[in-house]
Amino acid sequence: MLKISLENLGKLFDAVAEKQTLYIPTDREDGAAEYRKYESGMKLSKNLNTLRSAKDFFFPQTENLADFKMEGKKIEVIDIREESEDFVVFGVRACDARSFTILDKVFLSEPVDSYYKNRRDHGTIVTMACTKPAETCFCGTFGIDPTAPEGDAACWSDGENLFIQANNEKGQAFIDSVVALLEDGDTAKLDEVKVKTKEILGKLPLANLSTEAFGGDTLMEHFKSEKWAELSESCLGCGTCTFVCPTCQCYDIKDFNTGHEIKRFRCWDSCMYSDFTKMAHGNIRNSQLERFRQRFMHKLVYFPSNNNGEFGCVGCGRCLSKCPISMNIVKVMKALEVK
Ligand code: SF4
Ligand code: SF4
Repeated sequence: MLKISLENLGKLFDAVAEKQTLYIPTDREDGAAEYRKYESGMKLSKNLNTLRSAKDFFFPQTENLADFKMEGKKIEVIDIREESEDFVVFGVRACDARSFTILDKVFLSEPVDSYYKNRRDHGTIVTMACTKPAETCFCGTFGIDPTAPEGDAACWSDGENLFIQANNEKGQAFIDSVVALLEDGDTAKLDEVKVKTKEILGKLPLANLSTEAFGGDTLMEHFKSEKWAELSESCLGCGTCTFVCPTCQCYDIKDFNTGHEIKRFRCWDSCMYSDFTKMAHGNIRNSQLERFRQRFMHKLVYFPSNNNGEFGCVGCGRCLSKCPISMNIVKVMKALEVK
């Protein structure tokens, strides 16, 4: 397999950034990792994962969709779409890489979301295998192997070298663009690292979490469960769980009058908010119980029912560590699986 020594990783980043925009996870002052546009000298974070997922590059938190100019009854629609430039997102973890399979099912189904597709066409995802999974990780529950991440190209580290392999043509093009910096490497030590990682994965607290109780014809059984009342009782409706989630994809579209023109923009929304899906007649979910239930029913029951059993969660663990009241999808799964 091709490799580069970790000492020379900066040279690889420099070479990529000369040709296209490169984003890498790097540490903020408070120690949390976030994606930033690479500048020479920037260090790759050693944190397991970023605070916010790589979803942002393909489905940004806010974006302008179109402009309008109005003169009396005349409306001019200005298509502000531009072809994206090629870019690379490096260091995406296996869970977040899988989130694109889920987002693609939403945004690339007919009618195709041209804004998302444009970025998917121009973005290359280079993943990084995990070696130190956290206690909040449960990607294995959804069939994800963090030692063999998806993405266009995948990387592994044995502590001294970074190994890289293409998963498709786009990934191969990425490798070809930096091949002068790569050399053939012996993977013996890397194979040991993978074995150790799998041992850790088997001992994680959520290693045996199962989806068995969901999918199939469990819809009404779970929908009518009396457990939602207790589970949702303390939910603040803050939306944090939806905003950190790599697979949440709800958005709102609004018009803003700048005084010169109307800007139509979309921004992330949250099914946990009281005005989510509010219409002229009012809201369809009037209690936090209904809103809370919607989020988890969508991920665990509705999405797999409509997508050949694919769940709407990738087990990244972000909602486990970020919810201010320590409520999360794992607690919901465990509560609902008990009859
Ligand atoms: S489950 Fe937690 S993070 Fe999500 S809306 Fe409720 S309080 Fe906020
Ligand atoms: S529901 Fe929680 S664990 Fe699942 S993908 Fe979203 S943030 Fe990650």
